[in-house]
Amino acid sequence: MTYPDTQLFIDGTWTAARGGETIPVVDPATEETIGHVAWARTADLDAALDASLRGFATWKAMSAFDRSKIMRRAAEILRERADTIAAMMTREQGKPVAQSKMETLGAADTIDWFAEEARRQYGQIIPARAPGVQQMTVRHPVGPVAAFTPWNFPINQVVRKLSAALAAGCSIIVKAPEETPASPAELIRAFADAGVPNGVIGLVYGVPAEISEYLIKHPVIRKISFTGSTPVGKLLAGMAGQHMKRATMELGGHAPVLIAGDADWEKAAAQMIVHKTRNAGQVCVSPTRFLVDQKIGDSFLDAFSSGLQKVKVGNGFEDGVEMGPLANERRIPMMEELISDAVDQGAKLVTGGKRIGNKGYFFEPTVLADVPQSARIMNEEPFGPVAIVNKMASLDEMIAEANRLEFGLAAYAYARGHETVERIGREVETGMMTINHLGLALPEVPFGGIKDSGYGTEGGSEAVAAYLDTRFVSTAH
Ligand code: NAD
Repeated sequence: MTYPDTQLFIDGTWTAARGGETIPVVDPATEETIGHVAWARTADLDAALDASLRGFATWKAMSAFDRSKIMRRAAEILRERADTIAAMMTREQGKPVAQSKMETLGAADTIDWFAEEARRQYGQIIPARAPGVQQMTVRHPVGPVAAFTPWNFPINQVVRKLSAALAAGCSIIVKAPEETPASPAELIRAFADAGVPNGVIGLVYGVPAEISEYLIKHPVIRKISFTGSTPVGKLLAGMAGQHMKRATMELGGHAPVLIAGDADWEKAAAQMIVHKTRNAGQVCVSPTRFLVDQKIGDSFLDAFSSGLQKVKVGNGFEDGVEMGPLANERRIPMMEELISDAVDQGAKLVTGGKRIGNKGYFFEPTVLADVPQSARIMNEEPFGPVAIVNKMASLDEMIAEANRLEFGLAAYAYARGHETVERIGREVETGMMTINHLGLALPEVPFGGIKDSGYGTEGGSEAVAAYLDTRFVSTAH
């Protein structure tokens, strides 16, 4: 397939950057430069901000009913174009094309969900103390939003922020990922072709720090939404705080998987082989620390590691490939450093551990066992296809280890006993948890972390509220 160059989208027009600068885009499976993306500087951002203010005035004045119809049309357009968009995504990001298509179709479902939610943002009538007084709350869109999204799910990370903002009546400027620019641009094209008025959506690319610093401080922007690492999230949340901007932060994780002594460990292994290798482990909710009751520890480790050895790794366009390359070159040394540090500290390398070949950023699915707490990988998010399997003597020990880190994004558990299931659900400190199955990240359920994994939810019935102000009006008749 031909891969397109990607332009900025400002005030309803696809355009090169004013300075004419571009950034190369690399196919992570071949290391070839496949295209370029426009590189926005301050003059482009000023144009986007100006358009965003006008777009906000238009969009907020439109009824929720009409906004919802345009959004649903965008979802249909996305579905019609899913095959072409999926191919672009695999080319720029590396994941198997079936996963890219699932992400694109899933985005259409997300738009539909938020389109419906747009029509259900109710205020309240609050009983008054005095006769003749009516007290009510009304909800207003907060204003133009600046959203910053990463390269691991080029469309999915944008669509949650974009759909919630549009449902609320906000305009939005998206700083999408420079490594994977074409597929998120197609998402935005679907909205533009569906009839979203000029200025309501802006799309820019460039130097992330330069753009975030400019947009977050800018008086036009009233709300920030960021997905990425915890250190960058803290930096941006700090800036948002200084300028009194609302913020949603969807940050890193280090998901524990608790497997109790009475668990169906074969089912756990089968589900976790697929989940760990999805998107080559470059997923904020990827399972990382497997905390397994010592009674079944060896059985689980054998089943899990032998299953991972059979996962077919390769170019995402090849038939039968289950795991593509890592999305960019810098992930390879990161994997190698974390693995060698763990092994130096006494961990056992059970399978994998190496780059595959020397062309394309392919890496073996890897299992480390008996990893000491002092190893870096026990504390830093690996964001790659590496799992840790440690045996635990008791449920108390498992829960303490699960809660040891400052991350609190996702957690998983397998257990049969009612008391064990109940305790895990209550005591593990996490924003999201699934027990005995997989089921995160649907549009209708909350998506977000606690502790250092951030704040705010990007799914479920609370998600639109993050883009709305609640105002109180009291009237005497
Ligand atoms: P990174 O921390 O440099 O960047 C992560 C993301 O933040 C990228 O999309 C980047 O463009 C953006 N970013 C970085 N500095 C920024 C700034 N000052 N302002 C605005 N955006 C900024 O790391 P990376 O090498 O690209 O990715 C690796 C790490 O990032 C992983 O270890 C993981 O923790 C995190 N990450 C998380 C997610 C997620 O879904 N939560 C997605 C991608 C990356």
